[in-house]
Amino acid sequence: MIPAKFDYAAPATVEEALGLLAEHGDEAKVIAGGQSLLPVLRMRLNAPELVVDLGRIESLRGIRVDGDTVTIGAMTPYHEILADETVRERCTLLHQAITEVADPQIRHRGTLGGALVHADPAGDCGAPVLAMDAELVVTGPGGERVVPAAEFFEGLFTTAVGEDELLTAIRVPAYDGWGSHYEKFVRIAHQWPIVAVAAQVRTEGGSIAEARIGLTNMGATPLRASAVEAGLVGAATTQEAVRAACDRAAEGTDPPSDLNGDADYRRHLATVLTRRAVLAAVGG
Ligand SMILES: Cc1cc2nc3c(=O)[nH]c(=O)nc-3n(C[C@H](O)[C@H](O)[C@H](O)COP(=O)(O)OP(=O)(O)OC[C@H]3O[C@@H](n4cnc5c(N)ncnc54)[C@H](O)[C@@H]3O)c2cc1C
Repeated sequence: MIPAKFDYAAPATVEEALGLLAEHGDEAKVIAGGQSLLPVLRMRLNAPELVVDLGRIESLRGIRVDGDTVTIGAMTPYHEILADETVRERCTLLHQAITEVADPQIRHRGTLGGALVHADPAGDCGAPVLAMDAELVVTGPGGERVVPAAEFFEGLFTTAVGEDELLTAIRVPAYDGWGSHYEKFVRIAHQWPIVAVAAQVRTEGGSIAEARIGLTNMGATPLRASAVEAGLVGAATTQEAVRAACDRAAEGTDPPSDLNGDADYRRHLATVLTRRAVLAAVGG
């Protein structure tokens, strides 16, 4: 289908973009890579009067390292993040998850910021961002505020970013010395995850000292598997010990039922995939 008619603006600065959002209110819609917004417009699920393209705002793009924090501009496309050595080495879980997003064409256009604001519960980037305790920098008429990942995802396709605000950057802590793995379950290649698990684990000797586990598509938002995280601390890095802790992966979740599987199937998948992800993260 063809989208409804809209005006188009391509501001050069964040301030200009914010000015347009303030002026047009909920009649304006921001576009980043367009990989989620364009299908929405074509299906006429949304018909904004003005589309504000962030593609010319250079300050929103790129990757910077400040000590132990890697700052990724919201408009940085997936393929640039994948090519970045620092992200691969120090924010490995995010790198691993992005390798699983869609296909190379979509990864060329789609942006990390667009994916996070779109907040599809099946999106691959939410769970690692949550498990890594990243911070989201949101800029609006009142200036900049920093939202912890745990407070960013508010509901189905809903985040802490207001209609007059922009997500401008994602600050990801470096996890030097941690093991990580993103385990995604799909029926066919390049599919959205039926369930996926983002696991990040630090070991000391033969046991687990810290664990951070994020779940994809196990509720309306990405979730932390807190019971598993608690159960893994102090556990040996053996199949049996990891399995016992990961059996609790579905606790506190509310997975959907759809043509790919019902809620019970997803709960089962969560336990299996969490075990696989943790064992891969500890090198077991
Ligand atoms: C065929 C296909 C398969 C896909 N498969 C997967 C998959 O397997 N896994 C996966 O995770 N994703 C998948 N995607 C989605 C892809 O990751 C999108 O790129 C992503 O969801 C949106 O990023 P974008 O930059 O294209 O954002 P856009 O589509 O441009 O925008 C998405 C939404 O975010 C808002 N927005 C964008 N940037 C900002 C900002 N900086 N501040 C405030 N609001 C903003 C827009 O207004 C819009 O509402 C797939 C997409 C397609 C088309």
